[in-house]
Amino acid sequence: MYQPMLPSRAWDPIPDQPIAESMVIGVLLMGLCILGIQTRLIFSLASIWPANAFLLGILLIRQGANRPLTWLLAGLGYVLADLLSGSSLTKALALNSVNLVGVGMGLMAFRAIGPERFTLTRPLDTINVVLVMAAAASGAAAGGAIAGHFLFDMDWLASYGLWFSAELVNYAIFLPVALATLSPDPDKFRFASRNPAVARVQVVALSLLVFSTYCMHWFGGPGAPAYVVPCMLWCAVCFRPFASAILAMLTCTWILIAGPLGYIRLNIDMLSATDAASFRLGVMMVCVGAFAVSVINDVWRRTNLELRHLATHDALTELRNRRAFMDALAARIGMRLAGPFSLLMLDIDHFKRINDEHGHPVGDRVLVALAQALRRTGLVCGRLGGEEFALLVEGPLADPGLATAESVLAAVREIRVPVSEGSSVGITVSIGIAEWRPGEDASSLLTASDSALYTAKRAGRDRIASAQHPLPLDADCPIAPPAIRLAGG
Ligand code: GH3
Ligand code: MG
Ligand code: MG
Repeated sequence: MYQPMLPSRAWDPIPDQPIAESMVIGVLLMGLCILGIQTRLIFSLASIWPANAFLLGILLIRQGANRPLTWLLAGLGYVLADLLSGSSLTKALALNSVNLVGVGMGLMAFRAIGPERFTLTRPLDTINVVLVMAAAASGAAAGGAIAGHFLFDMDWLASYGLWFSAELVNYAIFLPVALATLSPDPDKFRFASRNPAVARVQVVALSLLVFSTYCMHWFGGPGAPAYVVPCMLWCAVCFRPFASAILAMLTCTWILIAGPLGYIRLNIDMLSATDAASFRLGVMMVCVGAFAVSVINDVWRRTNLELRHLATHDALTELRNRRAFMDALAARIGMRLAGPFSLLMLDIDHFKRINDEHGHPVGDRVLVALAQALRRTGLVCGRLGGEEFALLVEGPLADPGLATAESVLAAVREIRVPVSEGSSVGITVSIGIAEWRPGEDASSLLTASDSALYTAKRAGRDRIASAQHPLPLDADCPIAPPAIRLAGG
């Protein structure tokens, strides 16, 4: 279903109050650093480092959080995590300065591209995210080359290459998760689709992703990390961005761990700086591909829902428009075993006078107020055009058809629309009601309730007229003349 992106409705783990916001970011980063250090200790050659991507993601989405206090507390979180794991202060300060330089470079690239081009609502936005990732990785690699040379006596170029590839693959894996976590989409954490057919496809795609990961282990070879690409792209198409980012993160993190540890026979030398950098860049490409497809698919899905909403809803009242109401009526007629139902047509009485006396804006507010009253019935309703509305009432015309019409008539009499200081305008409606007879089509039922509506108008307005309209010629019943019953007034 189409839901506009309303930031206030989406759950966000970070508070809005400035000091609390910076503190939560600092604590979050310390936790992510500890996680990164632990995975590094357990899987010695794997370079899993989510902290930089999350800090960059947070500052990209929550631009207000980009203040000195956040940087100070984030830096403190990085350094404390290193000190807790036994690093020296010099090393902790040097390596974490490199991390922060990278995040800073990413933000500078974001500013240069233009924040307004960073909404993840257009396919081109994915390229901007990749450019920001590349800038952040280059910034960290430049600092890393210096730190690597002086702290670990490494060759400048080898140090740059290793740092760049490690940073880039981590940004590619974790930045999509951070962006999706902080997205304003109220439904962002949904994994299984509400549509059972799509949910079944998701199960198949997920099973095949697991199977292709197994094939990666089974066949091995330098191309093995790419075996998961088709199923990851498939998951990117059938899951929402957050779920897709989590699946890509799990798969690529596993490749980053399993490759260097020899769980996958890649036949590449992980101790060679070139091979290790090439391996990480390969995994990064896999992840970026899944991210791009997921964003483009989400843009397409949202645009599609928005267009469908615009095509089926009235812009002023947000009720179904004539086309959507007629579709709903046709669908109801198509449910042949569902029993009787009635069609109510409503028209505001002397609406032109309201426009003439108080102006069109007041007329518009009257239409919105009436639409709200109709929506409160919980029934299928629509604006057929101008000041004409329609409702479908399940069950026989006598009850609940006429009872519903009477309660609508009463509810409309209660409507007051403010006109100016202290004065308001009220309205009444005339209602025509007709019960659907088996075999009858939508336009014949519409004609019957429309002629009942005009009977109500002619009889003095603010009342209900019901039509016992003639049965269609192919029905197995005698043809009866229309009989009109008046109510209300
Ligand atoms: P009756 O009781 O016979 O229905 O009289 P009426 O004045 O309601 O009917 P009439 O058909 O003469 O006038 C309908 C008016 O509704 C004319 C048109 O300007 C106005 N109208 C139609 N759509 C809108 C709208 O979206 N906003 C406003 N403000 N007026 C609208
Ligand atoms: Mg009218
Ligand atoms: Mg009218």
